[in-house]
Amino acid sequence: MKNTVKVDIAIVGGGIAGLWLLNRLRALGYSVILLESEALGAGQTSKSQGIIHGGMKYALQGMMTNATQSIADMPTVWQQCLAGTGEIDLSAVQVLSPKQYLWSSNTLGGKISGFLANIALSSQVQALKREDFPDIFQHPNFKGHVYALNEIVLDVHSLIRKLVKPHQDVIFKMASLKAEHLVFDESGYLNEIQINAEPLDTIAVKAEKFIFTAGAGNESLLQAVKNKGVAMQRRPLHMVVMKMPFLQPLYAHCLGMSATPRITITTHQAQDGQTVWYLGGQLAEEGVARDQAAQIQMAQQELHSLFPWIDFSAAEFVSFFIDRAEGLQEDGKRPDSCTVKEIENIIVAWPTKLALAPKLTDEVITLIKQSGIEAHTGDVRALRAWPMPIVTKPIWDELL
Ligand code: FAD
Repeated sequence: MKNTVKVDIAIVGGGIAGLWLLNRLRALGYSVILLESEALGAGQTSKSQGIIHGGMKYALQGMMTNATQSIADMPTVWQQCLAGTGEIDLSAVQVLSPKQYLWSSNTLGGKISGFLANIALSSQVQALKREDFPDIFQHPNFKGHVYALNEIVLDVHSLIRKLVKPHQDVIFKMASLKAEHLVFDESGYLNEIQINAEPLDTIAVKAEKFIFTAGAGNESLLQAVKNKGVAMQRRPLHMVVMKMPFLQPLYAHCLGMSATPRITITTHQAQDGQTVWYLGGQLAEEGVARDQAAQIQMAQQELHSLFPWIDFSAAEFVSFFIDRAEGLQEDGKRPDSCTVKEIENIIVAWPTKLALAPKLTDEVITLIKQSGIEAHTGDVRALRAWPMPIVTKPIWDELL
């Protein structure tokens, strides 16, 4: 049929979840297309800090939680991929830092030793001698403790580009998919989705499985699905970006009195060559109650109090709000792991963390195999003239 595309699997949403899945499913021989309404990575993925958590941050609660256990294998999976020997070859992806630091002011010493004594994975955390502190903490005015943590930090944009590159022939840009574009039969089985891209004709996409990895966009897609057993929650953040020339790089969590780090800092390079500090943690969680001016003021206060020996007067600041989109939890807290739910021939998935994309993909593949779907050659000729979405710009280059 002229305006019909037939594939084994259609993925909606090109963030980390959709792109990781696309790579794995095509390697297994399935015919797959990925549909994206904005730009690849445009949702949470490009705004993430790129930390491949192994759960140590969650162990700040002083005990192993379910969340700690479910994420503990992820750094190994990613390390194998980065070495070119894993399930996806990510050897071209830029590693910004091979480790993270944890630091505290001297007033928190008791809390830190309790934390370190309590965690079973403590071999991953190393107390550093002063001479091994990163340069920024070598200043004589710094009196706290520094620990090294075995968690890598990735350049998320090079990651997105690497995941996209081999699959440009099956990634298409379309107008945002809405409930009315989903065509169901009476039993609730999704027959097709109808996609548009002006001025091209509407195209019907038929697939054995439809996978919704649209992040926060899953919420409106779910409104069309009869089974209401799957729902989404949002946990908002108010992130801060600071740009300054000649700023020292830092990848670190500042330990405060709560389970969330007081501030989490990652370092990136802006397109004009200046250095960016990207600020999250408690500052971003509690910052949702502040407007942008108050949030920037708070960030400045925190930086002055944590690094009194650094002159931040040349720094430019900007802040923005973003929701983390996840499977709904009764208590509204962060899910312990990724969420993967099947409704007839639809799978809805949220990774919860960038780091958990490989786990989400394993769970989706298990469901696909259980459904008995075999690999076929797809027919995507009707999409030959369709545009491909661009890879999104880093948020600092968009806002500063
Ligand atoms: P998204 O990245 O949001 O992608 C969804 C895609 O679907 C988008 O491209 C969007 O344009 C598209 N889309 C939406 N609606 C539609 C529609 N109707 N039709 C078609 N396409 C649609 N995790 C970590 O492990 N480490 C970190 O350091 C980290 N830092 C974070 C920092 C911040 C500020 C935030 C918000 C999250 C962070 N996370 C981190 C969590 C992580 O970023 C997310 O769990 C992950 O990126 C979610 O990926 P996703 O593919 O599900 O969704």
